[in-house]
Amino acid sequence: MTQVVVIGGGVSGLASAYFLSEKINPAEITIIEAEDRFGGTIRGVDFGSRRVETGPDSFITRNPSAVEMASKLKLSDRLVSPATSSAFIYSRSRLHRIPAGTVFGAPSDFKKFFGNSLISRAGQLRASLELLMRKATVEGDTTVGSFAQKRWGKEVTERLIDPLVGGIHAGSVHQLSLAQCAPQYLKAAESNRSVSIGLKSQTANYTSSGHPAFYSFASGLSELVNALVELLTKRNVKMIADTKAIEILPGAAGYSVVTDSRTFEAEGVICATPAYITAGLVKPFSSSAAALLSTVEYASPIMTLLAYEDEAFSEPPEGSGILVPRPNKTLATAITFATNKWPTWKTDGETLLRISTGRVGDNKAWEFDDELLVAGLEAEMKDVLGVRARSVRQNVTRWDRRIPQFKPFHSQLVHRIREELPPGVELAGAPFLGVGIPACISSGSLAAERLTKGRIKPC
Ligand SMILES: Cc1cc2nc3c(=O)[nH]c(=O)nc-3n(C[C@H](O)[C@H](O)[C@H](O)COP(=O)(O)OP(=O)(O)OC[C@H]3O[C@@H](n4cnc5c(N)ncnc54)[C@H](O)[C@@H]3O)c2cc1C
Repeated sequence: MTQVVVIGGGVSGLASAYFLSEKINPAEITIIEAEDRFGGTIRGVDFGSRRVETGPDSFITRNPSAVEMASKLKLSDRLVSPATSSAFIYSRSRLHRIPAGTVFGAPSDFKKFFGNSLISRAGQLRASLELLMRKATVEGDTTVGSFAQKRWGKEVTERLIDPLVGGIHAGSVHQLSLAQCAPQYLKAAESNRSVSIGLKSQTANYTSSGHPAFYSFASGLSELVNALVELLTKRNVKMIADTKAIEILPGAAGYSVVTDSRTFEAEGVICATPAYITAGLVKPFSSSAAALLSTVEYASPIMTLLAYEDEAFSEPPEGSGILVPRPNKTLATAITFATNKWPTWKTDGETLLRISTGRVGDNKAWEFDDELLVAGLEAEMKDVLGVRARSVRQNVTRWDRRIPQFKPFHSQLVHRIREELPPGVELAGAPFLGVGIPACISSGSLAAERLTKGRIKPC
């Protein structure tokens, strides 16, 4: 029987085990998870009389992996989409609608874009010069920020593209890879002299999958985790929580996975852990892979939940939330009107906000303890939303080094890391194909496929 160990029980590790169990039969698959629960960054907490997400609250459908996984797990009828998607940007002490005529923050239709309140007239004119520019040339890769600033100017980059594209990664567009984090721009640049025109035709050609852009599940994303755990248990996958992998050594079957309680023998291993943890695991047999893995940087966001009595707002907040660009120098980087987005969270006459803080180059929120952070955010909610009272319930979840940063030429880095690993050791997780849940599921599928395509053999 083929023995495989998956290290890490987040969605990537669970998906890896799922695809392995489909591909290898008979197999003895073991998942080792350091915490006392599975799901990793997917986590809900009881908050008042509802259960609320403190990590991701939805996933995109453009990459179909998560929707397909939901169908395999017979969860399709549990899928729910956000009740609202209209969002605002806070700039110069007021709220602005995200300008019309933009794709992923970049102006694509200037007839609709002109006249928006977020970007100054000079900034709008500067952006429109993109229509007259020579075709963009990108030598392999660059940063999103450098590309965007050259094409549409500093203001559009700072006030629109950084909060949108950088925000997804809790990063900075001045460090993130264009190829990895805004492939739409690159594709538009390849097909058109003007990137804006290319983006406009991309949207015209975009054929809807029939799904809304985002989904969660009726009782939250934990439904996906719970269904995977249940199915894997039925398939006799050994689910071992509260056990921390320390290192992988050559062993009798191929590898020995040494943990803080016992050692597991395996012919194949999938590491579905953050890159800096994986570095330590593979170091005994590949110091070069370990060194490359250690170069992947991480952002450390903090998610704060604040519940307010409805009466605290002079007017109920509108839409799904607000993005807060860096120049505001606020603690909050994004504010989700959680009870607008997910109406089933609305109970007890309370309005619930999910507030993100902490991004690359801006970790001031980590200097505060929970009490001070809540007080600081409450003061900001007064300024930004005009909230007149203090919150009635709070929860702070700190996500230390949870969101990998994709620097230019990231896919080449991943290729080099894989080259440095011996047969039988594969990688899954947010650092490889993307941070979103669908990309994590795809990374599990890829790892299982690579492992089963003749790569299971002793080192
Ligand atoms: C605040 C926040 C909001 C987000 N919002 C969204 C969103 O709305 N939509 C979206 O698609 N994505 C979102 N993401 C990203 C997404 O949640 C993650 O990229 C994804 O869940 C990562 O899954 P993973 O399995 O790769 O890693 P993780 O979830 O980090 O799982 C890794 C697991 O490995 C375990 N582990 C670590 N070390 C060891 C060890 N030595 N031995 C054994 N186990 C170990 C950990 O305990 C953990 O359970 C968000 C992330 C954060 C932090």
